[in-house]
Amino acid sequence: MKLTEFYIPTLREAPAECDTVSSKLMFRAGMIRKLASGIYEWLPLGLRVLKNVENIIREEMNAIGGLEVWLPHLLPSNIWIETGRWYIYGKELFRLKDRKDADFCLSPTAEEVITDLIRNELRSYRQLPKMFYQFGTKFRDEIRPRFGVIRAREFYMKDAYSFHKDEQDAERYYKEVFEAYCKIFRRCGLKFIAVEATTGAIGGKFSHEFMVIKDEDKNFVGEETIVYCTTCSYSANIEKAECVYNETPKKETKLFKELQEVYTPNMKTVEEVSNFLNEPAEKFIKTLVYIGNNKEVYVVLIRGDYEVNETKLKEVIGINEIELASHEIVETIFGIPVGFLGPVGLKPINKSYQVRVIADKSIMTIPDAISGANKTDFHLKNINYLRDYMVDEVVDIRKITADDLCPKCKNINSLKFSKGIEVGHTFKLGVKYSKSMNATFLDETNKEQYFVMGCYGIGVSRVVAAAIEQNNDENGIIWYPEIAPFTVYLLPIDYNDKYIKELTDKVYEMLKRHKVETLLDDRDERPGVKFKDADLIGLPLRITVSKKLPSEHLELRRRLDGKVEVVYINTLIEKIQENIVYLKNF
Ligand code: ATP
Ligand code: MG
Repeated sequence: MKLTEFYIPTLREAPAECDTVSSKLMFRAGMIRKLASGIYEWLPLGLRVLKNVENIIREEMNAIGGLEVWLPHLLPSNIWIETGRWYIYGKELFRLKDRKDADFCLSPTAEEVITDLIRNELRSYRQLPKMFYQFGTKFRDEIRPRFGVIRAREFYMKDAYSFHKDEQDAERYYKEVFEAYCKIFRRCGLKFIAVEATTGAIGGKFSHEFMVIKDEDKNFVGEETIVYCTTCSYSANIEKAECVYNETPKKETKLFKELQEVYTPNMKTVEEVSNFLNEPAEKFIKTLVYIGNNKEVYVVLIRGDYEVNETKLKEVIGINEIELASHEIVETIFGIPVGFLGPVGLKPINKSYQVRVIADKSIMTIPDAISGANKTDFHLKNINYLRDYMVDEVVDIRKITADDLCPKCKNINSLKFSKGIEVGHTFKLGVKYSKSMNATFLDETNKEQYFVMGCYGIGVSRVVAAAIEQNNDENGIIWYPEIAPFTVYLLPIDYNDKYIKELTDKVYEMLKRHKVETLLDDRDERPGVKFKDADLIGLPLRITVSKKLPSEHLELRRRLDGKVEVVYINTLIEKIQENIVYLKNF
């Protein structure tokens, strides 16, 4: 492709609103433009990368028996009402009405559509298993669209759905998809890990998230935090990571000291009281008040140095949304200011409030703990679980820390944390959707059975941004060969010069014959401008044609590490292939 016949509007500066390295580079390299918050246009260069990623995914989905389909994006509400998600999906769902005032939504995901299709199509166990997948636009009215195409409101996704006759087959296939996902992300040149995850709004039995990670870079925009073990293979989304407790609750009470009230004027935080009393934070019980979207009140107790994992808390309670109660609400319910609440004798002032006390397991093993005295300006010392207070349940609701044991191998000091960008998600759904939508087939004994399902998504447009986020330097993007928009940037120092033009054209034709995707910078620009753009666009190899080199010789440069060789034209193809192999294995 000749640059003058293509369209790559590079920019010296990214728009000020760009909040990540990848979005800056995608704008500057002329890959995308923005229409509105979370809504983007893809220009020709960007689209070439998107299509490369799409093709890799398509090949690997086909390799595990996937059948490509195309499902509508404009969806009638009735199927969403059947699964109940019309009511619980919340504000992320773009809803609209047709001219007859009937309700529709724009597809954020397609479990309902595909399950509806399948219940009308597949009848017998003989037709199973089947996996259908599609590429298409997804719409989600994200609370905070950000990071360019990483969290957009309209984005490009591959979603796949599999149907099985039983759990066993669904599980077998889940592993195949898992392997296919690993291949896909490897072929995209991504450094990633697959972590255990929660199932969120999609639901189902278990799920894995595929996370692109970059340990050493503080600017990396991963929204998710991953914990992994350096000793064994354990890794999980921090939201999910289970905390292992190696102590059992202390039942012995006689050794404990007597309760003692201490005056702690105006000291409300663990830090303040801990400094004042000269006691470590791990001796404290933090008492937090949450309100659920069911309007119920939850008192949460946790050791002073730990943090509540709200995802786990929501799962324990069994609701979608929860938030910390405001100071005013806490005072209204308990008549005590925030900061002086504690587990001993805590009661709402009004019986109409239903309060459930949920304790993290960490509180059971603090001997002679300290917490609020349920009295303004006072704390209590020597609080002991069971002797001084009881709770409704003791569960694991805290965030894992670096000091925790590995949940799998139980090693100490082996956990590490990393930020990650979620690029793919696999779910073993079970019969959640087939049951609610009554999608059945006849088994070997002619009995009706619900399809056992799996669903598997990849954020195709997010993959492109994640690849850039992971592979770039101060000069621009560094593409991995399989997803690069072109392989070679052919850069004649002066395309008006006769010798240079002839040699450039000869090389260009030769590369074309050998199917090496080449971008020829035939612009009438200064070499400096061309070199800058070449680095910014970040094709894996650059070939410079210049009079300074021996006759019929070219300079071949790797974008990744800047390695340069002077190559005779007859060995050029061979050298290119060698370098591609090197880059793919890097
Ligand atoms: P997230 O936790 O990032 O919101 P999700 O769990 O909502 O993701 P899924 O419903 O599993 O995402 O969607 C499948 C894939 O689609 C995700 O793994 C991600 O790569 C991509 N994706 C999800 N939301 C967006 C978005 N707003 N913009 C771009 N890609 C997205
Ligand atoms: Mg989401």
